[in-house]
Order: sequence, then structure tokens, then C-alpha cells
Amino acid sequence: MARIIDLPLTAGEGSCDPRAVHGTWGALDAAQRRGLAYTPEVAAETAPLYERVKHVIPAVEWPAYAPLISAINKMKRAKNAVILAHNYMTSEIFHCVGDFRGDSLQLAREAAETDAEIIVQAGVHFMAETSKVLAPEKKVLIPDMRAGCSLAASITGADVRLIKQRYPGVPVVTYVNTSADVKAESDICCTSSNAAAVVEWAAREWKTDRVILLPDEYLAKNVAAQTGIHIIAWHGRCEVHERFTAEDIAELREAHPGVIVLAHPECPPEVMAAADFAGSTAALQDYVVEKQPRKVVLLTECSMSDNVAQYAPNVDFVRPCNLCPHMKRITLEGIYDALAEMKHEVTIPENVQVRAKLAIQRMLDLPKEKPRAFATGRPPVAVELV
Ligand code: SF4
Repeated sequence: MARIIDLPLTAGEGSCDPRAVHGTWGALDAAQRRGLAYTPEVAAETAPLYERVKHVIPAVEWPAYAPLISAINKMKRAKNAVILAHNYMTSEIFHCVGDFRGDSLQLAREAAETDAEIIVQAGVHFMAETSKVLAPEKKVLIPDMRAGCSLAASITGADVRLIKQRYPGVPVVTYVNTSADVKAESDICCTSSNAAAVVEWAAREWKTDRVILLPDEYLAKNVAAQTGIHIIAWHGRCEVHERFTAEDIAELREAHPGVIVLAHPECPPEVMAAADFAGSTAALQDYVVEKQPRKVVLLTECSMSDNVAQYAPNVDFVRPCNLCPHMKRITLEGIYDALAEMKHEVTIPENVQVRAKLAIQRMLDLPKEKPRAFATGRPPVAVELV
């Protein structure tokens, strides 16, 4: 069962607040070890940035973060670098050093279009690979090479080749949460923003009623329920979203009468059925900002609520805390070191890069549409598991 914890905003030791995990005082120590101090100049320069995160970072803790933030932003300008920050980054990264912020699809589009020479991926390894695939001439850095993903680790390019042998002529759609090697074996990529639309497109193009959708079993089931297309799926799971259950939702509704429950489509179908609304992180954010519910809970990674709260100050967020340990490997000090020392560079063999780009580009070339919501309240639909 997922751990449902209604966290206070300034959770302390022993909580699963990501800042408690990294340690504010660890950040202070990290800044001092790099010769960075909280001077009056740094205080003045970072004051507007603090306004964006004051709902999650107490004023007393800001001097721990501000020197690193100031130094990172100066280095970005000096080196013509941009930081792509995923929605699951902690707020001091997302709101204070991120140049482009969003879900995988939004970040992939920015990677393809930026004029910067250097991209620092504040996200996990498959996201940095996607940036490198789309912008092979740029230097792509990831602050921590260990920032992986349970979904991406669940499948290899060799697995996809075997699946294609077993289902000849069936189009292969892969979620962007995969390695470049897997993407290279695919016909087209998708994200949780466009998965249903891409699967429908593949069925139309291949004139078939069967589509292979890899590697997230739950996303595949949720897309099957959405589209009515026969989905052939893999048994990958997101270790964050698979932990939410329908019982968690019942408990939340009991503890917080009237709360609106929003779920990410990597959650099990039973969770989607019990939620009020479901969609990608971009769709969840749009829902909160547009509808301004009185009280809301986002069944997704822990930091998302902190980041969306900046755009919806009047909404009361109930905060279940399922941390992604891979996303949380990305820290301000890691970003600082990556830019200062130009490490850790992501590289991809050219033959993989070229084929992976075809699959991603096909997705990017589809008509741009608003992130599509997933239906809720429906009974689960079976898929064919490989
Ligand atoms: S939240 Fe899930 S899908 Fe995203 S990086 Fe973490 S493990 Fe992978």
C-alpha cells in the first residue's frame, strides 16, 4: 500500500519531504565547500526567486540554497547553457534554476528547439538521452549518472527485437521512459500526454486493430480502456505510481471530505477508476490551474504538488508522498558540479541516435494538441502481456 502522509510544508527529519532527504544543511555545507556564501549581493539577486518557492522553503533555510542558485544561474549565462527541469524536481531546482519546465514531452520539444550549446538535464537518464537524440550537436549533461528509472530498466532493445519477431507487422509504440536503444527499435514514441492519440494514430497508419505499447503495463491498460484498441504490453512498472491503490483513495476521501483526486496514468487501472480526473503531469497541472479546486490530491511523484502550488496559491494540496529515488538524485550541488566541471556527458552511438530520432520525431511531428485526459470511473480493460 502506498504511504499516504499528509505532510506539513516544512517536514523535518524522518519525513519524506525531499528537502529533508537531501538535507537543507547538506545544501549549506555543499555551498560552503564550493566557496559560495550568502552575501548581501546574493540575497538581493535571489530575492525574486525566493518569492516562487517561499510556500515550500522556510526563510531560515533560503541562505542554504541561494548561493548555489546564484552561482548556477551565472554559469548558465557564461557558458550558454540551459537547464531542462522535469515536473518532479524539487522546487528550488524547478522554479529557481530551470529554464524550461514541464513533462517529458514539453522538455523534448525544448531540447529540439533550444539555441543553447549545453543542455543540463534536471531529470533522469532517459530524458537526457532524449535530449541528446534530438540535439546530437549539443553537449548534454546529467548531474548524476545514477538517476535511472524502473520503467526504463525493465526492457532492452534486444527485448523489443524479440517482441517484433513474435508480432510481425504490428506497430511498436514506446513510452519515452525508455533507453535510446529501445526507442531505436520502435516505430514511434509517446508520452503520457499523448499516449492514446499516438496509439490511435499507429492503428490507423498500420491499418490494424493491434498495437504494441511498451513498457508500462499500467499505462498500456489505461490506454486500452481509453481507445478500445487491442494492446500488446510489457510488464514494466513505475515504482512510484504502482504503489497507489484504490484503498488509498477511499482513505483520502474519508479523511478529506470533498477532496478532488487526480491520478497519473502510470497508476494501476483501479486507481484511475476511483479518481476524479487522470492525465499526464501537464494535464494535472492544467486541471488545477484552470479549475482551482478547493482541495486536491495529486497521485503522482511527491514534488509535483510543491511545484504546481506556485501556480495555484489558493488551492489546498493534500500531499501523499511517494518519492522517486531516481529523480531525487538530482540536486543543486550536482547541477553546479555538472556545469562547473562539464560532467557527466551523455553520449549515444550514432546508429542508435539516428533510429531513435526517427521514433521521437514522428511523435513530435503529430499535430500539437492539449494534453489529453484519461477517462476515470471505467472498469479495467485486459491487455495481452508479452
Ligand atoms: S517517477 Fe517512475 S517513471 Fe518517473 S523516473 Fe521515477 S521510476 Fe521512472
